[in-house]
Amino acid sequence: MNEIIIQGIKFDEKSSYQKGAKHAPKKIREALYCGSGNMFTENLISIENSKIIDRGDFEISEYFDIEKITNTHLRSDVKILTLGGDHSITFPVIKAFSRKYSSIDILHIDAHSDLYDHYDGDQYSHASPFARIMEGGFASKLVQVGIRTLNPHQLKQAEKYNVEIHQMKNLDLSTIPKFKNPLYISLDMDSFDPAFAPGVSHHEPGGLTSRQVIHLIQNIDAKIIGADIVEYNPERDFKNMTAFLAAKMMKEILGKMM
Ligand code: MN
Ligand code: MN
Repeated sequence: MNEIIIQGIKFDEKSSYQKGAKHAPKKIREALYCGSGNMFTENLISIENSKIIDRGDFEISEYFDIEKITNTHLRSDVKILTLGGDHSITFPVIKAFSRKYSSIDILHIDAHSDLYDHYDGDQYSHASPFARIMEGGFASKLVQVGIRTLNPHQLKQAEKYNVEIHQMKNLDLSTIPKFKNPLYISLDMDSFDPAFAPGVSHHEPGGLTSRQVIHLIQNIDAKIIGADIVEYNPERDFKNMTAFLAAKMMKEILGKMM
């Protein structure tokens, strides 16, 4: 198997409402390695493997340094799991991936479609990464799951960029398509119902259960080349329960990448 690099991106400067997500990577690792659970996925794959290499956390001062760091790690034939950070980090990460892969499909799990052309005057806001990705042609296909906050502007953007949206209001996970190209997964922790994941900046009720997202990940039948887990905000968490959910998702996604 290829090596899998873990990179933590300490960045929440483009979070429009609350800061705190920059402290997430450390908290997710602490939850994973605190001894509360074992290192096996539900499908009995151990993530204690010499091919999984944790490069630690990166303090970001310039937004596009995220692309440079990702490029450095992508130089060899590796997969990358990124721990964010607010959701703005996904655009520079995908930009780096797009140099290496001519076609990428993206599975984006989120309460929000993050398709704003700009937000508060910032085209790189955490509300806009998927507008930048699709506008630049950095993904062949974008499938969004868990969405429950569309407005007329974002619906127009979704049509413009041909985004396939599976909204919460009529969700049927059996209709998620098969992916043909190498797949990148972007998991926003606010996709979960706040009952499962209170540690996020934007509480949006009516969301996914932990089991639904685990099921979705476990049933992917495509080559996963990269993933990110974003928007965990430790300052909003209750008894670290969102950290433990993020750690569980980290484990399941790593297992799937292997
Ligand atoms: Mn998001
Ligand atoms: Mn979100």
